[in-house]
Amino acid sequence: MASDVEIAQKFKPIPITDISNKLNIKSEYVHPYGRDIAKIDLAALNDKKNTKGKLILVSATTPTPSGEGKTTTTIGLGQAFTQLNESVCLALREPSLGPCLGMKGGATGGGYSQIMPGDKINLHFTGDFHAITSANNLLSAAIDNHIYQGNTLNIDMRQVVWRRVMDMNDRSLRNIVLGLGGKMQGVPREGGFDITAASEVMAMLCLADDAQDLKNRLDKTLIGYSYSGEPIFAKQLQVTGAMMALLRDALQPNLVQSFEGTPAFVHGGPFANIAHGCNSVLATRMAMHHADWTITEAGFGFDLGAEKFFDIKCRIANLDPDAVVLVTTVRALKMHGGKNKKQLEHEDLDALQQGLENLDKHIESVEMFNKHPVVALNRFASDTDAEIALIRAQCIKHNVSFSETTHHADGGKGAIELAKIVMDSVGKSKPFQPLYHLDMPVVEKIRAISKSMYGADDVAFSKQAEKDLLHVEQLGLSDLPICIAKAPSSLSDDPTLHGRPRDFEVTVRSIQINAGAGFLVVLTGNIMRMPGLPKIPAANNIKLLETGIIDGLE
Ligand code: ADP
Ligand code: MG
Repeated sequence: MASDVEIAQKFKPIPITDISNKLNIKSEYVHPYGRDIAKIDLAALNDKKNTKGKLILVSATTPTPSGEGKTTTTIGLGQAFTQLNESVCLALREPSLGPCLGMKGGATGGGYSQIMPGDKINLHFTGDFHAITSANNLLSAAIDNHIYQGNTLNIDMRQVVWRRVMDMNDRSLRNIVLGLGGKMQGVPREGGFDITAASEVMAMLCLADDAQDLKNRLDKTLIGYSYSGEPIFAKQLQVTGAMMALLRDALQPNLVQSFEGTPAFVHGGPFANIAHGCNSVLATRMAMHHADWTITEAGFGFDLGAEKFFDIKCRIANLDPDAVVLVTTVRALKMHGGKNKKQLEHEDLDALQQGLENLDKHIESVEMFNKHPVVALNRFASDTDAEIALIRAQCIKHNVSFSETTHHADGGKGAIELAKIVMDSVGKSKPFQPLYHLDMPVVEKIRAISKSMYGADDVAFSKQAEKDLLHVEQLGLSDLPICIAKAPSSLSDDPTLHGRPRDFEVTVRSIQINAGAGFLVVLTGNIMRMPGLPKIPAANNIKLLETGIIDGLE
């Protein structure tokens, strides 16, 4: 099969203003960034509302490190809706350079189910990540400058919780010493970097209703504590107005198209393992406002992205998906049946049979939110009919819908059956019920997620986590939802446990207060908010060809 780059060469772009016309977005709201990309003014949301708009959530079973095809399936499914002459729009996250240059590669789908132009979207796109990084680091610079200029707020340098960010996997920046070099170079203190996709500014931008809401969120962001233990908020540093200036354009959703011309909003990019994992509320609204069907993806497995999609995003934004697609693959389920990544290409019905328990758990998890799962088997070239029959039989046993898709090789045509099944499944789900109520004690909320989504027996809290819990209580923030940071390759917090782990405890290492985003980040196991590069990063295979084409960004 042709590579993603070769397929992209065959792409015949529809002018982006024709795509916005397809969605009936008035031209005065469309700000083109070149021929294939536009930002859409938030004022477009004030026009006559499409009240029929239905929302489809695409999630997945626990993935292998290369991903099992949620993005690809979301795009393929959208293209199938287009082929069926339905009014449809995608809502996806913006890729981060971390995975693009690190382990996983780009995040614009693959094969004949890609959003275009993939090279631009995967790299700098419309500069939203740059804007978010700059706004975040302006606040950092303001904090250190405040300390240097006399520290009238009495900021305790040992208790600054606001960290710098950059959009790169760079483990050596996790913990650093700032301000070295003498009297003129600032005041020395410990600090560090997270990846931009994990920054609270990213979360705030993705959860904001409008510019005013974003400003309010920025103002109430906790940046640290004073020497007398009082909390200090971003507003006190007096730069949230400038942060808003930096974020003005980033707040507008980006419109692009898929290989087959399906409109797609691609906006906001929090990871689902270390952040809340879904595209911006504004992009989802924009899509639902302008199309009968919106298809969106939540990152990593259902336990991570989809749990947060429901318990954080849907709760905050008053959304409720009409259908849920659970993507799975033969290769991931064989991994859950005990095989390593070199053994996934050969038929192995025993390993697959054992790995099915991972699918079982995710089906149960979808049902816990009152939703009827449609299992989408994303077919790879090495899959055999016997393997697929086994997965189909398991879905029949559970009384859930099943469809085999070939959208990677065939584009929208390969997901037509899935599209019809998804449309039929609307009505089989009830209004979603969250996993926990906000007024439950924080520890009970963490327990509720760990036990019901991950299958844990219980949760253990470190000494640090217990101290953090006290801070949460003192600040009166116990009623916030929970955003768990956890290994994506396991249902547990131990990345090496595959299948359906049983008899384990989740260990909470610490809890970070994201008062502006409006959730508590609970760090479990050894998960880091600044990833590192693998031994051979994807960057080693990326080249700029003489023709100007970028190769290796898949
Ligand atoms: P996710 O969104 O779940 O992380 P992606 O859709 O980004 O996964 O897919 C991960 C990678 O696997 C991409 O490089 C994509 O092109 C590739 N891929 C997905 N489905 C298939 C398939 N059926 N055959 C071959 N490659 C695939
Ligand atoms: Mg994806």
